[in-house]
Amino acid sequence: MKPKVAVIGGGASGLAAAIGAARGPADVTILERGHSLGRKILASGGGRCNLSHSRILPQSYHGARPAFIRDALARFKSQEAVRFFSELGLLIREEPDGRIFPRCGKAQAVLDVLKTELERLAIRVCLGRKAVEIRRQDAGFLVRAEAVPWKTETPTRGGEEYAFDRVILACGGASYPQLGAGEAAYDLGKSLGHAVTGLTPALVPLCVKESAFKRLHGLRLEAGLRVLCGEKEISRCQGEILFTDYGISGPAALDISRDSVKSLARGRVQGSLNLFPEFSSAGFHAMIKARWTGRPKRLLKDFFMGMFPVQLAGTLMDTLGWEAHRPLDSLGRDAVDRLAALLQDWRFEIIAARPWSEAMVTAGGIDVDAVDAHTFESRKVRGLFLAGEMLDVDGDSGGFNLHFAWASGLAAGRAAAKPV
Ligand SMILES: Cc1cc2nc3c(=O)[nH]c(=O)nc-3n(C[C@H](O)[C@H](O)[C@H](O)COP(=O)(O)OP(=O)(O)OC[C@H]3O[C@@H](n4cnc5c(N)ncnc54)[C@H](O)[C@@H]3O)c2cc1C
Repeated sequence: MKPKVAVIGGGASGLAAAIGAARGPADVTILERGHSLGRKILASGGGRCNLSHSRILPQSYHGARPAFIRDALARFKSQEAVRFFSELGLLIREEPDGRIFPRCGKAQAVLDVLKTELERLAIRVCLGRKAVEIRRQDAGFLVRAEAVPWKTETPTRGGEEYAFDRVILACGGASYPQLGAGEAAYDLGKSLGHAVTGLTPALVPLCVKESAFKRLHGLRLEAGLRVLCGEKEISRCQGEILFTDYGISGPAALDISRDSVKSLARGRVQGSLNLFPEFSSAGFHAMIKARWTGRPKRLLKDFFMGMFPVQLAGTLMDTLGWEAHRPLDSLGRDAVDRLAALLQDWRFEIIAARPWSEAMVTAGGIDVDAVDAHTFESRKVRGLFLAGEMLDVDGDSGGFNLHFAWASGLAAGRAAAKPV
């Protein structure tokens, strides 16, 4: 008999799960608390939807159980993600750094092909339905869902009960609650016996103590970034940084944010910016020295010309306590050493992460120790499946999180469709 499958959540993992199950074949219903599907898909990649990456490696993912992540991803590489979308009619483009996007550069196109497939497979979509309780009944489940009136987030009390053979929980994480996710959804997992590991925002901009960064607001540059606790390096990466009035954002800052947030819980955390990551420290010192001694009467402001945008040069001079109109040879014997050290190891203090509403993903989630890495079925409750960001798996920026949402959703959906 075709099983009746409920998918709770109409985000990336829920849509993939519904498609996987309906192709099974199963009789599928999506319950989505919002009034539209795939809101995070539309917001992803700045509206371009970075849907996967050509190199899906376990080291790009994080969570308490690396073995689960390795096994879960072993069967769904980027080729599978590309094949899934190509079969839906989406043209794909891979960027030189491996990130994969729809060729037209529009996240809407990704959602459109998914929605067309939902229609083709006659998947029932119930919008404005928030699942608030899931109970076992005989060999299946009773799901109670409350109606969420249009333009509110407050469900009406009571709600209706629906009976299903299998349930796939795909409610997302705690990040970006304005797009439908939220910590409350973990309670559904907990009520069925699943443990939830500590939740912290990840891929989130960082607040820094130094007011000097405020002056750089809006400036983007390529740099190396490190996170340090004392002198111990916790994390490092290289890429684009965006200075903001509260601190740093941009892909490189987001990528070190997970480790920064975890370290902040243990004490003081420093960041280190390397504005010339392509040089070794000896090579860089020699380059600066040659530039400095080549024309020693040059004014400091002219020395920086051609190296940096003016606003960055001004901030660097302030940090060193040097005046722009001083000639280089008036700045003391250790000037080259101080400058070279600052440009490759500019220290600042990370004091906080921006709030959940600015975090792209959630670190932590449902403990995957009680989840099968191939079928995503609960080991605690047969017939219950869990997928996507609500699991304790989070990826680096670059398409890894959506890739996991497709991978886990499709696998859960296929497994949930096995005959009753
Ligand atoms: C701004 C932004 C940009 C991003 N860009 C990228 C990117 O380019 N590439 C990338 O790989 N990742 C990106 N991410 C991360 C990625 O979008 C998410 O990891 C992914 O969408 C998670 O999918 P999901 O289905 O698990 O959760 P979600 O997309 O959050 O979907 C969960 C759904 O469940 C619904 N729901 C929750 N509780 C209930 C309930 N009780 N009853 C019914 N429905 C419920 C929610 O309304 C929501 O629609 C981005 C995230 C953000 C916020």
